[in-house]
Amino acid sequence: MRRRRLIAAALLLLAACSRRPDVPILTYHSISDAPDGFTVSESEFTSHLDALQRAGFHTVTFHEWLAHEDRGTPLPAKPIVLTFDDGFEDAYSTVLPALRARGMRGTFFVVTSLVARDPAHRVARGEDGAQRRYLVWPEVRALAAAGMEIGSHGEHHLRMADLDRAQVLGELTRSKQTLDGVLGISTEVLAYPYNSVRRWIVPLARESGYRAAVAGMAHGNADRFTLYRMGVYRGTTADQVLAQLR
Ligand SMILES: [Zn+2]
Repeated sequence: MRRRRLIAAALLLLAACSRRPDVPILTYHSISDAPDGFTVSESEFTSHLDALQRAGFHTVTFHEWLAHEDRGTPLPAKPIVLTFDDGFEDAYSTVLPALRARGMRGTFFVVTSLVARDPAHRVARGEDGAQRRYLVWPEVRALAAAGMEIGSHGEHHLRMADLDRAQVLGELTRSKQTLDGVLGISTEVLAYPYNSVRRWIVPLARESGYRAAVAGMAHGNADRFTLYRMGVYRGTTADQVLAQLR
């Protein structure tokens, strides 16, 4: 009896040890000179990328991470996922060249209702000084063609905890259908707007056909639909980014 309990304890320990490798996920928003705290300047951003490379990190996509989880496909040493929320124009104009120059990849979470069909119809919001301009579909396609991963950030960037079940399902399925249609692949990953997720929302994300979803700080890595991310904000130094990863 005692021996059986010991074996059970050993198995539990083994299960705990063999859980997913701890692949850190960083969250960026806009990379530009806008003055708000969520925006990181281009020079700060490239200093982060260079520091990550010097420290031996290798960027991977959620697609690669899922292949590793499900089929044991190897990941490079010190894997890390870089994510970019909201689908700002600078994802294409600034982030893409910076990543490509370093052979790095990122995952871009777009809000499908804010993506216009061409630059003449580009969506811009906010006051003159702090105006936000969003991606257009040819740029989203170009990001995907360059090996970047595109995920859903909902159709309208709504706080899902405030919606009812049917509204959440609508946000999740319509944004996925739009992305699937434009990109010709099945969209695998979701970022809950405002990192807002509740227990009842998780099965809806799964039912909508996603394979993983990212949340914020509060939820931990309990399962692949509430993956923990670390936010990077204006003024965060490269050393602070590396310290977060230790
Ligand atoms: Zn957002």
